[in-house]
Order: sequence, then structure tokens, then C-alpha cells
Amino acid sequence: MNDCLFCKIAAGEIPSKKIYEDDTVYVFEDIAPTAPVHYLVIPRQHISKLDEIDESNSAVIAHIYEVIAMLAKQLGLDDGFRVVTNCGEQAGQSVFHIHFHLLAGRPLQWPAG
Ligand code: AMP
Repeated sequence: MNDCLFCKIAAGEIPSKKIYEDDTVYVFEDIAPTAPVHYLVIPRQHISKLDEIDESNSAVIAHIYEVIAMLAKQLGLDDGFRVVTNCGEQAGQSVFHIHFHLLAGRPLQWPAG
């Protein structure tokens, strides 16, 4: 995707505070954090939103959750953490490259707004 913000971040064309990367996944700090830990986990592959997940790309999503579990252990998020994916404008999605918010470091209210 030529004009996708998160594709450019994953490619290093736009600066970000990198937490982790591998061939499939890129993790960086959210520019407007809402918790002491607020990272965005994205696939390098452009997938616009969660309802585009199918058998052709679900292995990427499985790997994302492996990375989240690994990071949670490395970061010592033993008190708990939350993973959020907004799908579509009404749900609050503002960047149309699928991403997983990793939130931790404070009590998180539920149900969310
Ligand atoms: P969402 O509203 O679920 O689509 O989440 C998009 C997230 O991307 C928001 O939490 C923004 O703060 C974050 N964001 C937008 N631009 C950047 C950027 N250049 N670097 C890091 N995070 C960003």
C-alpha cells in the first residue's frame, strides 16, 4: 500500500519508537499513549481491517498473538494486559492498517466505552 501510514512505519520510512520486529511483525509505541504501556502490534503485510482476515492471512495474526505473549513475559506484565483491535470507523478505527493495541500498567475499566 503506497499511502499507508503503518506500512511506512514498518518499512522505516516514517520514524517510530521500535519495541520489537521480525520478518512478519513490527511493534512500536503509540504516539498518544493511554496507559503506561501502549504499544501497537502490526503485520508488515497490509491488511486494512479485522474483517479481512481469512485463511490466506490468518497465520500472520496467529504469529502476532505469539509475539504479544512473548512481549508480555519479557515486559513482566504479570498483573494483566489488554489487547484491542478496533474494526471500522464506528468502533474507533482511525488507521486502516490492522493493529493490535497492547495496553498495560494501570487498572483498565471494563466494559470499554
Ligand atoms: P485506532 O484508533 O484503533 O485505529 O488506533 C490508531 C492508533 O495509532 C492511535 O492510538 C494513534 O495514537 C496511533 N498513531 C497514529 N499515528 C501514529 C504514529 N505516527 N506513530 C505511532 N502511533 C500512531
